[in-house]
Amino acid sequence: MTAQMIDGKAFAANVRAQVAQHVAALKADKGITPGLAVVLVGEDPASQVYVRSKGKQTVEVGMNSYEHRLPADTDAATLMQLIADLNADAAVHGILVQLPLPKHLDEDAVINAIDPAKDVDGFHISNVGLLGTGQKSMVPCTPLGCLMMLRDHLGDLSGMNAVVIGRSNIVGKPMAQLLLNDSCTVTIAHSRTKDLPEVVRRADIVVAAVGRPQMVPGDWIKPGATVIDVGINRIEAEDGKTRLVGDCDTDSCAAVAGAITPVPGGVGPMTIACLLANTLTACCRANGLEAPEGLTA
Ligand code: NDP
Repeated sequence: MTAQMIDGKAFAANVRAQVAQHVAALKADKGITPGLAVVLVGEDPASQVYVRSKGKQTVEVGMNSYEHRLPADTDAATLMQLIADLNADAAVHGILVQLPLPKHLDEDAVINAIDPAKDVDGFHISNVGLLGTGQKSMVPCTPLGCLMMLRDHLGDLSGMNAVVIGRSNIVGKPMAQLLLNDSCTVTIAHSRTKDLPEVVRRADIVVAAVGRPQMVPGDWIKPGATVIDVGINRIEAEDGKTRLVGDCDTDSCAAVAGAITPVPGGVGPMTIACLLANTLTACCRANGLEAPEGLTA
C-alpha cells in the first residue's frame, strides 16, 4: 500500500479562505472586525519567526493584528498589566502569549491571567476543564488542526482505535481529549509506555507528538491506518545542511499506512490556520453569534 499524503498546506489554505470569507461577512453585516493580539517577550529567533508569520496571516484574512514586543527582562507586573489591558480591550478578541517565556516569568500564571474567552491558544485552565468535560471551549490550535484533517479524511471517527504518542499539555493531552469526544477508543502513550510498537500496531489512527526524529517506523503501523505526524525536528542531512523531519519515518510508514501527513507541509501549516479560526470563533462568541461550523471542534 502507498499512503495518501494529506496535504496540510492546501488544507490550511482552505481553512484560511473560509476564515477570510466569514471575516468579510462579519465586517459587511455587523461592522465587526476580529482582532488578534500577540505578545512576544524577548528575542528568541524561532518565536520571532512565528510571531511575524502569525501577524502576516492575520492581516491576510482581514483581521486586525496587534503585536506587543517586550524586552527579555520585562517583569511579571508589566506583562500582567498588558494582559489586563488586552482583556479589557473590546477590539481584541484573541490574545496569544508566545511561548516559551523567559525563565523568570511564570508561564502558567501568565496564561491563566488571559480572559478564557480570548484564550485562542486554549491553554487556560478553564478551557482545559471545558474541553475535558466536553463543553464549548477554546481548543489548542495544533490538535484542532489534526482533528480537522482526520475528520476530513476519515469522516466519522466513532469507534476507531486511536493512539496518541506524547502527553504534553499543548498537543498530546488535548489531542486525546478531542479524539475521545469524537468517540474514539483512545490510548495515550509516553516515555514510560511498555511495548510501544505493539500499542501503536493496534491503532487505526496514530498521532505522533514526541519530538524525536523519525522514531516511528513503518513496521509499527497497522496496514491502512491514518498517521498524523506532529513532530518537527531539525536534523543534519548528508550534504551537511539541516532539514526538517517528523516523529515518523515517513517513507516506511507511507508504505503501510492508508494516509499520512508529511513533514514539512502536514500539521505545521494547520496550526496558524487554526489560530485564525479560533480568533474568529472568539469574536463570534463575544458578539453573541454562533462560531462557523467546521472551524471549531
Ligand atoms: P513535549 O516535549 O512537551 O512532549 C513530548 C512527549 O513525548 C512527552 O509526553 C514524552 O513523554 C513523550 N516521549 C518522549 N520520548 C518518548 C519515547 N521514547 N516514547 C514515547 N513517548 C516519548 O513536546 P510537544 O508535545 O510540545 O511537541 C512534540 C513534537 O511536536 C515536537 O517535535 C514539536 O516540535 C512538535 N510540535 C509541532 C507543532 C506544529 O505546529 N506542527 C506544534 C507543537 C509541537 P513523558 O511525558 O513521559 O516525558
